[in-house]
Amino acid sequence: MIDFTFTEEQELFQKAAREFAETKIAPHVPEMEETGRGWDPVIKELGEAEMMAITIPEENGGLGLGAVVRLIALEEIARISVATAMMMQVGGLGIDPIILFGSEEQKEKYLPGLASGERFATVAVTEPSGGSDPTGCHTTYKKQNGSYVLNGRKCFITNSHIADTQVVLAVDEDNHEAFSTFILETGMEGFEPTHIEHKVGMRGCNTGEIELKNCEVPAENLLGPEGKGMRVSMTAISETGRAGMIGCSLGLHTACLEAAVKFANERILYGKPISRLQAQQFKIADMKIELEAGRLLGYRAAATQDKGGRAGNEYAVAKYFTTEAAQRAAKMAADIHGGYGCMEEFPVTRYLRDSFILGPSAGTSDIMKVIVSRWALS
Ligand SMILES: Cc1cc2nc3c(=O)[nH]c(=O)nc-3n(C[C@H](O)[C@H](O)[C@H](O)COP(=O)(O)OP(=O)(O)OC[C@H]3O[C@@H](n4cnc5c(N)ncnc54)[C@H](O)[C@@H]3O)c2cc1C
Repeated sequence: MIDFTFTEEQELFQKAAREFAETKIAPHVPEMEETGRGWDPVIKELGEAEMMAITIPEENGGLGLGAVVRLIALEEIARISVATAMMMQVGGLGIDPIILFGSEEQKEKYLPGLASGERFATVAVTEPSGGSDPTGCHTTYKKQNGSYVLNGRKCFITNSHIADTQVVLAVDEDNHEAFSTFILETGMEGFEPTHIEHKVGMRGCNTGEIELKNCEVPAENLLGPEGKGMRVSMTAISETGRAGMIGCSLGLHTACLEAAVKFANERILYGKPISRLQAQQFKIADMKIELEAGRLLGYRAAATQDKGGRAGNEYAVAKYFTTEAAQRAAKMAADIHGGYGCMEEFPVTRYLRDSFILGPSAGTSDIMKVIVSRWALS
């Protein structure tokens, strides 16, 4: 039998996550938007509320909850601040490869701090040469005196300047078909966060570059088997990363629908609210239909993962649908606002800007279609 309802525990978590977002995250949004910085307080709040601990096993200091609960939390946080949800989701993207592929020593060393918020993580795969083709990676590693020496540059990295624990993909300097993944830490010589991007949306979310100049990484920081780094990085991106973008999209979509309904009920034209005009009702219906469909797709993928199955294909379908639908919802919400949809004091302008950023991260819509067509044709 198919059960589309949350468990009691999931419902309680949803309530707590909504309250957390509304009381602890919302007050920081104006500064994050205005300065394009201001991320420190929300990162601290995420740690204190154990939001980063959701998928970490209990024996490593986490909550031992699954992908569905993480999606619930991300959706609720993104409803208030997609920028915060984005930093949280990529933080999780740095955590899950350690859970899945880390040695016992690595789990013991990193996971308790990541669960409590003492540490914060990211994954650094993308390079200026192109994110859709990670095999074009130019960041190299070379084994030298029992450690690895890394050289290269990573771009568009979420949490680049926040994360003290970075899961980095590199290619063997002498064998361009062998990729490995390493855990890098702040303070390692030759490891430096450099440029910070100024994005059109999700302004308060830290996105930037890291540079590796003869960065010496101890052998015990190799994550997963040497030469299998593509699997380590891609497993995390295809499940945790895409689930994360689905959470961001569903939360933003909900915010757009709520703003559109509020404005349509309050704006009086021809002596009645514009919510009585069928053209506006149909926009609201489209937003609602796509939100409901996106939720079914997203939570189906997360539930499949929680049942122990691989859900890469289901996540690709849901990531494509929810990110595109959230962009349409943001445009419709702004349209319903008429001229006010162009004025910064209305949050729909932020939603519209934020919606542009949903697409590329964890794979563009084109890449999702490549995956989905492969699935359909197989
Ligand atoms: C806000 C933000 C946060 C990010 N955070 C991270 C992060 O934390 N860590 C990280 O490693 N990366 C991160 N990224 C990078 C992201 O994963 C890449 O932007 C994405 O993979 C696309 O790579 P690209 O930007 O180099 O575009 P390209 O790969 O150069 O693509 C350019 C165009 O070609 C299209 N294209 C590419 N291949 C195909 C194909 N096979 N068929 C059809 N069309 C194709 C694309 O869809 C796109 O339209 C982030 C990006 C953004 C915008």
